[in-house]
Amino acid sequence: YIVHLVMESTLTARDRVGVQDFVLLENYTSEAAFIENLRRRFGENLIYTYIGSVLVSVNPNKDLEIYSKAHMERYRGVSFYEISPHIYAVSDNTYRAMRTERRDQCILISGESGAGKTEASKKILQYYATTCPVTDHLSTLRDRLLQSNPVLEAFGNAKTLRNDNSSRFGKYMDVQFDFRGAPIGGHILNYLLEKSRVVHQNHGERNFHIFYQLLEGGEQDLLSKLGLERNAQKYQYLVKGCCPRVSSINDKNDWRTVRKALTVIGFHEDEVEDLLNIIASVLHLGNTQFGEGKNGENQITTETQLKYLSKLLGVDGAALREALTHKKITAKGEEMISPLSFEQAVAARDALAKAVYGRAFTWLVVKINQSLAFKGSSSVIGLLDIYGFEVFQHNSFEQFCINYCNEKLHQLFIELTLKSEQEEYEAEGITWEPVKYFDNKIICDLVEGKHKGLISILDEECLRPGEPSDISFLEKLEDTLGGHAHFVTHKLSNGKTRKAVSREEFKLIHYAGEVNYSVNGFLDKNKDLLYRNLKEVICQSNSQVLSQCFHREEVTDQKRPETAATQFKNSLAKLIEILMSKEPSYVRCIKPNDAKQSGRFDEALVRHQVKYLGLMENLRVRRAGFAYRRHYETFLQRYKSLCPGTWPNWQGRLADGVATLVQHLGYKPEEYKLGKTKIFIRFPKTLFSTEDSLEAR
Ligand code: ADP
Ligand code: MG
Repeated sequence: YIVHLVMESTLTARDRVGVQDFVLLENYTSEAAFIENLRRRFGENLIYTYIGSVLVSVNPNKDLEIYSKAHMERYRGVSFYEISPHIYAVSDNTYRAMRTERRDQCILISGESGAGKTEASKKILQYYATTCPVTDHLSTLRDRLLQSNPVLEAFGNAKTLRNDNSSRFGKYMDVQFDFRGAPIGGHILNYLLEKSRVVHQNHGERNFHIFYQLLEGGEQDLLSKLGLERNAQKYQYLVKGCCPRVSSINDKNDWRTVRKALTVIGFHEDEVEDLLNIIASVLHLGNTQFGEGKNGENQITTETQLKYLSKLLGVDGAALREALTHKKITAKGEEMISPLSFEQAVAARDALAKAVYGRAFTWLVVKINQSLAFKGSSSVIGLLDIYGFEVFQHNSFEQFCINYCNEKLHQLFIELTLKSEQEEYEAEGITWEPVKYFDNKIICDLVEGKHKGLISILDEECLRPGEPSDISFLEKLEDTLGGHAHFVTHKLSNGKTRKAVSREEFKLIHYAGEVNYSVNGFLDKNKDLLYRNLKEVICQSNSQVLSQCFHREEVTDQKRPETAATQFKNSLAKLIEILMSKEPSYVRCIKPNDAKQSGRFDEALVRHQVKYLGLMENLRVRRAGFAYRRHYETFLQRYKSLCPGTWPNWQGRLADGVATLVQHLGYKPEEYKLGKTKIFIRFPKTLFSTEDSLEAR
């Protein structure tokens, strides 16, 4: 108690603006009260608030002085409610739960683009890197873990309208710890890189950072060797968004950071050279143009680019020239070469750029994983930083995948939190008010169902002989899914939906709201194919890195490659399996305004996020339930010394001992319940507010 009182006094009046746990909110069913609490705290730079053990974070868009080493120290070994909410409290609690309960943990970070997910995951990693015990020989590993971030961000992040450093891929990272609690290894899984950005950017957006970093920061020798000019304006793939410079980004400095990080992680110089060759070749591909030859044929008109491409990709120039302007088709068992039209050649070129970049990115992740690999027994904390629910004016295949991913994660949340919570009360024979929630399994099934799911219909249409098109896909969807409560098209529309559906769209009614998806490009993006002869040329490359990215078997193998959607579906299923085996903690990130400004709190925008993050539902379950629960034996053992009646040993029934103890501690009968094997306390007093892991560290 003394410890607790001292801790309480370290909270200043300012720390107490509003309630620091929504569970304590008097009017807890009111969304307005919820948002008002967030707003008031945000106004005082108190960006963190709990819903029980869930951390809600509002992006301040400015540096707050709350991430120093001293701050980290304050959160070490301290239980949740004793000190103001913080990402470090979640980090520390998760760590202690892993250590004392010997159970793998995961921290799921969600929120829309620009809400602060990636920053949160970096802060968690820094917390472990700084506070966990490290021996000399492990410090290399720790540095590699930390340095993997700038590398992946250079290649996988870009400036978008929503976020100057937006992650354009999903990331799940396991951090492994040994028996002493020291970080000893790691492993990264990456999801669905937004490859289309390589060849096109919307107005006000940029391509991936690495291109600008190379052009700004690369030494003159290097650029000459790569055949590049120090001017982003010269490159077709970099000018689409009309946005070469961003005030919040220093490409030159970032280049140095990335180069150093690559070395720390253990990349060989020749690997880095190959990698940069690939990056440069993408820029040359963008500047490769086609025009009419003497006999009206379509040909490459930019010889210099072709020369560099052949050198940088390590492939035969003549073969590449032919593959960029012709396609090989097999008709009646015979191979034929036919010329590509101008548009087809441009599409083939762009497809090559995307494929080469996308695979180089995957290669990068594989290499980083090799450098972080640890074989042996370990405990794990997984960090999930993955795209949030996206609704734009125009939504396509990418948003479809991203939102499907969010449906799956929401389903996991229901399984692990809402459902399991209610099941436990039932098992323990505790009476309580069940909370209604919408189970989104029906939407997951709509997307991923075996035969009648959207993805399997899409795959079927991609493989169908004849002339499948995006529109024929849409018709197939209507035939198969018409009548489903969460699926609407123009034809099926009954006028009840909020946003009208055009003839080229279908609408899904997600748990988080309605989204219209345009079917344009669905088939091509799902097939994600390179013309076979282009692939053949690249597979012959004498670049080490490229030959690891494109395997020769790919051209000889007759099997159809998995489609993009199916690959994504399978990798998501694996992710869910990984997460299911761990104990989850949640960080819910909120973006207070769309202008990346500090101090501005746009209520309508926040309300929308509160809704689709399911925060009100979360709070209702939390309020209806019991925040704290422990097996009788564990509870008695730990706290018996606080009550003369149970000290030094309780002789009777465990449940009676526990009742004696909690009554002595001042709990009223309505504040706790005795189950079959466990005590449940509605709102625990500070003393046993979180995991009882006092022996940790
Ligand atoms: P997300 O990954 O959700 O898209 P980020 O984590 O990249 O968003 O955050 C976007 C930007 O917001 C960051 O680049 C940073 O400028 C700012 N930001 C996010 N979280 C914080 C924080 N805790 N403190 C200060 N600035 C932050
Ligand atoms: Mg991010």
